Formats: sequence, C-alpha cells, structure tokens
Amino acid sequence: MSASEFDIIQRYFTVTPSRDDVVLAIGDDAALLAPRSDRQLAITVDTLIAGVHFPETTSAADIACKAIAVNLSDLAAMAAEPAWLTLALTLPTIDEPWLAEFSQAFHNMTQHYGVALIGGDTTRGALGITVQAMGYVRQDKVLRRDAADVGDDVYVTGTLGDAALALRLLQSDLFDGEAKADREFLLSRLNRPTPRVEFALALADYTSCAIDVSDGLLADLGHITTASDCGAEIELSCLPFSSALLNVYANNTDSPDLQSVLTGGDDYELCFTLKPEHAEAVKQIAQTLDLRVTRIGSITASGEIVCRDQQGDMVGFSNRGYQHF
Ligand code: ADP
Ligand code: MG
Repeated sequence: MSASEFDIIQRYFTVTPSRDDVVLAIGDDAALLAPRSDRQLAITVDTLIAGVHFPETTSAADIACKAIAVNLSDLAAMAAEPAWLTLALTLPTIDEPWLAEFSQAFHNMTQHYGVALIGGDTTRGALGITVQAMGYVRQDKVLRRDAADVGDDVYVTGTLGDAALALRLLQSDLFDGEAKADREFLLSRLNRPTPRVEFALALADYTSCAIDVSDGLLADLGHITTASDCGAEIELSCLPFSSALLNVYANNTDSPDLQSVLTGGDDYELCFTLKPEHAEAVKQIAQTLDLRVTRIGSITASGEIVCRDQQGDMVGFSNRGYQHF
C-alpha cells in the first residue's frame, strides 16, 4: 500500500464505529462484527460508474449520497434495518477537495441512517464507487419478490419519473422553461434519492412482497410477477407524479411521458403488493412518515403486465427498463 493511499484512508475514511456490534473496523485486514443472534443478515452491493450511473458533472457530495442511498434502498426492499457499509473507491487521481466533500457527505449519511463504515478498498482508475450494505432482518418479517398473490393490490411509494426527467433536463434543451424550484427538486430526486427504510420496516408487518424501483416500474414489477408466477394490471391514471414533474410537462407538452416514467429508472421508490384488508393500516404508517403511497393496480393470474388507460384500453410500452448490456 502506497503512503498516499494510506493517508487518504486515514484522513477521510477512518472513523470510530458508532455501533456496538462492530468489534474492529477500518485499519486491519478485515472488519470484525458481532451480529445479534436473533436476526438474519441481508447483504447487497451496488457499483456506481461515472457517466453510467451518474452524469460526469455530479458533485462529490451527491455521488456519496447516491452511492449509499441506492444500497439502503435495496435493504429497504427486503425490510432490512441497515447496520454496516463497506466502500470500494476507484479514483482517477487524488483530488483532496473532492475527497473532503465526498467523505463529509458520506459520513453525514452514515450518521443519519445509523450505519457504520467498517472497511473498504481504494484503487486507481476511472471514477467508480462500490458500496456494500449489510443489515438485519427479522426472519418472519422479510420482504421478497416471490410473495405476490393474485388479488393483491400493487402500490408504490413516493412519485415516479422524477429522476428520469431530471436526466432529460440535464441532457437536452427540450425543456428550458421550468421554474428553478421544480428543476432543483427533480435534480435532487436524481442525485439524492431517499431510501424508504423506515416505511419498509413497518410495511413488513402487513405484506411480504416488495422490490425497489431502480430500473423502471415495468422492469421491476416484472421481477415480482416473474418470481411470484403471476401478472399485474397497472392503471395508468393512478400513477403518482410530483408537482415539479407535472409543471415541467405542462410547460412543454400536455401530459407526462409515460414511457419515460415507466422505464426511465432511478426512482428508488418501493413497489409492493398488499391484501386489500391491510390498506388502511399501511396508509396510516405512510401518513405518520409523511410519505405518499399510491395504489396503482393489482396482481393478476395473466402472467404478464398490462397497462390500461382511464377508458380501460390497453396501452403498450417498448423497452422494459434500463439495461446495462
Ligand atoms: P489490504 O491491502 O490489506 O487489503 P487496504 O490498504 O486495502 O488493505 O486497506 C487498509 C484498511 O483500510 C482496511 O481495513 C480497509 O478495509 C480500509 N479501507 C481501505 N479503503 C477504504 C475506503 N475507501 N473506505 C473505508 N475503508 C477503507
Ligand atoms: Mg484491500
């Protein structure tokens, strides 16, 4: 290990772990954990590559927030309570102002969610950030993709399509009349998604089926219907939109671009299924957390996902979401 690499880890990433289930964190060859014995562990990892998962112009702080958020969103989708993170960082150069901003935002996020950074790796190359997140699940209160039943309702948290629209705002001059506040809201949805951790933990008392929407609703709901061997019907008129998204479209075209909303990705909201008798309880939880949850359709036996407009007519969409290859 070169001295400067050591300095970087020391200066920016070595923190005293804030959790008593961490025995040994950064500084040794591996971290040591003493996980509580009455839980199972959920483990996930996601890589963000500059120019692929975030625009090259994204700030260091936004990259740090997003790298953590997308991983905590995966944990939320399993109803896992976040506990520990590792960080593998690939940097083109040692840029201290960038590192200071990145690490500050990173540590703010870990504090906010009560997770400990317990190790990582630092290498040189094209900018890439890999975060691994680990957390606790209650064995009988886990959310999975394979637990949807015919007759369940389909819900999503938050609003859809904001991040995809933000990306279009950055990439084109198609939209240029949007108000500053709307633009900033949409960009924050792209750069700093909010993982629905608290809601997911409470939701798991009422259902056992969820996924997080990262590649677009059609693709991700498709993972539920495939794993659960069922189909789904989406009522397009029920899809939840932010007022910022509606404003931007109102200023440019007449209605939201549903193709982009359904397949654009980067929403980091939860899509879950629910028996109708639990609707009220879940609505209450969402209200307490000041989180919008919306019923957007139902689970069917058809084996496919069908979208219908307000008249009940089927509407087809091409491309089922973001694909890397
Ligand atoms: P080794 O060569 O033994 O793998 P490293 O030089 O990769 O050791 O890392 C030294 C220590 O610093 C390890 O405890 C590792 O987990 C930690 N570490 C390295 N890079 C990071 C990083 N970016 N963030 C957090 N911890 C890191
Ligand atoms: Mg190493």
